[in-house]
Amino acid sequence: MRISKAIVTLFGALFGALGVGFWLAPERLAQRFDLQALGVAGLSTLRADMGGAFLTLAFLCLVGAWMKRRALLIAAAGVLSLIVVGRILAFAITGSPAAMGANMVVEVAAVIALLVHARALARMQAAEARPVRPVRALVIGALIIGALGAGLSVAAHNPKVQDALVAKAVRTQVQRTNKALLGDDALRVAICGSSAPLPSPDRAKACVAVMAGGKVYIVDSGPESTKNLMRWSLPLDQVGGVLLTHFHSDHIGDLGELNLQSWVQGRAAPMPVYGGPGVEQVVAGFNAAYAQDEVYRVAHHTAQLLPPSAGTMIARPIAMPTEAQPHTAVLLDDGRMRITAIETNHAPVKPAYAYRFDYRGRSVVITGDTTAWAPLVEASRGADVMVSEAMNREMVAALQKVTGETGRPRVSHIMHDIQSYHLSPTEAATMANAAGVKLLVFYHLLPAPDNAVLRTVFTRGVDEVRKGRWDLSSDGSLYTLPVGSTDVLVGRVAY
Ligand SMILES: [Zn+2]
Ligand SMILES: [Zn+2]
Repeated sequence: MRISKAIVTLFGALFGALGVGFWLAPERLAQRFDLQALGVAGLSTLRADMGGAFLTLAFLCLVGAWMKRRALLIAAAGVLSLIVVGRILAFAITGSPAAMGANMVVEVAAVIALLVHARALARMQAAEARPVRPVRALVIGALIIGALGAGLSVAAHNPKVQDALVAKAVRTQVQRTNKALLGDDALRVAICGSSAPLPSPDRAKACVAVMAGGKVYIVDSGPESTKNLMRWSLPLDQVGGVLLTHFHSDHIGDLGELNLQSWVQGRAAPMPVYGGPGVEQVVAGFNAAYAQDEVYRVAHHTAQLLPPSAGTMIARPIAMPTEAQPHTAVLLDDGRMRITAIETNHAPVKPAYAYRFDYRGRSVVITGDTTAWAPLVEASRGADVMVSEAMNREMVAALQKVTGETGRPRVSHIMHDIQSYHLSPTEAATMANAAGVKLLVFYHLLPAPDNAVLRTVFTRGVDEVRKGRWDLSSDGSLYTLPVGSTDVLVGRVAY
């Protein structure tokens, strides 16, 4: 009786934690459940429906067990049984055992525990068991929790326990690798920096990792983005190249760190950095700035371990043919992966390029910074995914107004100027429609919308314009395009 009550309580607590989790961080929990949240409406469904369903289950389990209400326990068992039936149905339709998933084991176990406890309650009530003593139960519960807490606290202060925990954490961290993301079974696109020059606590500046065929290509290396790539345990020694859309600081600031980390991880040759004419100057500057660091590391760790010849970057300027529109140039084509630079309009910034990746029938375009630009639509035609910069003009105009009113005329002036050379979310949606892309992804978010209300305001009007799917990215957003399929899967980098 007590055991079954404890088990039902544990299930109740688990469901409660999941419910609260879906309320607070639906994107993160959705990943655990293999769910995809598309746009604000999808996120709302996760938060409201999934959060509500789990909290209802928690309520039925906990109130049923502690208030001795059999009907509630049976109701919880009924809901869970329907969920299990749904999973069996999914298995019958798809024929894939994955459709049932590991969650079914938990659900079946919860149904059994609920029914066992309901039966025990029925027996007890029939025998008119002793009246409940809530005070005694509370005291015993508090003592148990107190004893557990004290035990854990003592253990956490014990050096041996601490060392064991540290050793385990180090082993887990070191052994972790995300090499599978570079597999040749799909074209994968991860957002390693989703913000623009304005600071955001959880977002690095412009960076997109495109992965396929054992290589990772980095489109722009915005400040803080290398930290993301390292936290994800991506094999940075396999960087096939860095592709700069243009040379604004929010797109190049982490180039030195990216090169250094890639070299230290074992890259065998200088890192190619592609970009418009002028990339030579950028690369030479970073190479010069990091030259002393390279000398120290070689002296410390030996040239055998860190070959100096592989430690630098090498500029690969892409000249754009000027004859026919759109202006495009293929910078790499190995028979499986083709990368094309596309001239865009970020005037007065020139050159400014977008990049299109075509890998075994799947494709993605990354716009870089640009205005709405017909040649870019032309060159993006038929792509599976368009990763587009996005600036909410109304929000930037509000920043312009407030900074002007509060005695910051320089900032206000800049906020005015930048409104003319970026894409609004609805302009990007119009371009994506015209190009016929399956999924439009917003990144380079200006300003970064860092709460739910701002995210809704930022993408206001997109649903009305966009004919197709769209997603507002954050650092870690992952888009998977399996080879031999037309699917576009939305998820997050697991690390
Ligand atoms: Zn930018
Ligand atoms: Zn720019």
